[in-house]
Amino acid sequence: MIERAHPFLDGKPKRMLIGGHWVDALSGETFDSVNPATGKVIAQLAEGEAEDVDRAVAAARTAFEGPWGRFKPFDRQALMLNIADTLERRFDDLCVLETLDMGAPIARTSTYKRWIVQALRFYAGQAVALAGTTPHNSFPGDMFSYTLRAPLGVVGGIIPWNGPLISQLWSVCPTLATGCTLVLKPAEDASLGVLRFAEIMQEAGLPDGVVNIVTGRGSTAGARLAAHPDVDKIAFTGSTATGRRIIEASAGNMKRVAVELGGKSPDIIFADADLERAVPGAGMGCFNNSGQICYAGTRVFVQRPIYDEFVERLAAFSKTIKVGDSLDPATQLGPLVSSRQLSTVTNYFDIARAEGATVASGGERLGGDLAEGFFVPPTVLSGMTNDMRTAREEIFGPVASVIAFDTEEEAIRLGNDTQYGLGGAVWTRDVGTAHRVARDVRAGMMWVNCYGTTESTVQSEGLGMSGYGVKGGQRHVEEYLYSKTVWMNLA
Ligand code: ADP
Repeated sequence: MIERAHPFLDGKPKRMLIGGHWVDALSGETFDSVNPATGKVIAQLAEGEAEDVDRAVAAARTAFEGPWGRFKPFDRQALMLNIADTLERRFDDLCVLETLDMGAPIARTSTYKRWIVQALRFYAGQAVALAGTTPHNSFPGDMFSYTLRAPLGVVGGIIPWNGPLISQLWSVCPTLATGCTLVLKPAEDASLGVLRFAEIMQEAGLPDGVVNIVTGRGSTAGARLAAHPDVDKIAFTGSTATGRRIIEASAGNMKRVAVELGGKSPDIIFADADLERAVPGAGMGCFNNSGQICYAGTRVFVQRPIYDEFVERLAAFSKTIKVGDSLDPATQLGPLVSSRQLSTVTNYFDIARAEGATVASGGERLGGDLAEGFFVPPTVLSGMTNDMRTAREEIFGPVASVIAFDTEEEAIRLGNDTQYGLGGAVWTRDVGTAHRVARDVRAGMMWVNCYGTTESTVQSEGLGMSGYGVKGGQRHVEEYLYSKTVWMNLA
């Protein structure tokens, strides 16, 4: 693995953005940021704690009550369009930084450009489309009633490490579109791209205090943000266990909360499916980003007549996937994000074997010239049933549990036999089957003959232990606003 220089990685500790200034933690403490491809430290990050969060929330409140509050919709739109244009020019370095920070291959992070620029432009459009209503009333006399839509105030964004450049946008974009302000806490394992993105926003004219970034631990900085009495809303993406803590902490001041949590999504392949598409489609639907995607299709249900053939083809396909140096444009899968995540995933390899699964491909940490990093191969487990731990628990690694089914009704029942409800897919040439399965699987997102497409214009939300709160589309923007009803006596 070749070490590469990056202009952002200049050896100086990375500071936090509070009130428009780049500052150290009040304690002066820092922590290491590791490149998961090499296991080497590439930067030091300021270790923000509760007192730093307090400073950031105060800065966000000041900005909310200050000149930012007087930005007109077209002013906010202009800012967002300028961020999009600036980002377009700066993106090539930014995606390399994201790759060095969390391991996703450059072939993946470079595709974020289109996605992020479009998201900024979509939400910029939303900024000028906010509107209240004028409901008619029958109250005696002459009463006029109307509703206003007003920004909620200070938002806390807490995001995970599996795709921070994208994750942060889910709170940055609606914040800017609505006139809220934001304190963002990126994950310990992947904060660098978020810090660089903030520099780009500043270059594009972001007013001081509108977006603040506090790096630090979840148990200290994150917990303080979730509990902070002056934060009006928390937008969280991460694990189900942490999501529950966030919801509990939010109760202190009745914050609004949106939580996008884990998943164990069913990918259902019928015997009539076009296997030329279904095999790589289901494969990458599970393995993409080394399986570190909340809606990954990790339970692959295959109709019995094609089960053996499918397992064989999926295993063969998984062996063609290039795992390795994330900066090589031909690489399809990079390392897992951390040594902790590596232990979690390799532990599930052991659990699967102990449960009696057959490892059709993968199933061991990769060594050789990848031994320094946190690499595992795409792994196909066959002979699985839906009640095994590997089929029930979110692994967050490139591990497909392939499970046989006989009938459509059984596929739907097994697909729904999970605590989660984030995503799912169906592969078939029968239009009736496609519609019925898409309708009857309980999940916030369903794909037909494809897997994992998302765009900022198209909403998604989870069910059950996958959490709640809309991301994407117009409804997402509305979740950053409150409705105020005004009654006016005209008589
Ligand atoms: P993981 O365990 O895979 O790192 P988490 O859901 O714990 O996933 O992390 C997602 C984000 O939540 C990270 O930014 C993390 O720092 C933060 N976090 C972790 N614990 C807490 C907590 N108790 N309160 C608030 N944020 C937290």
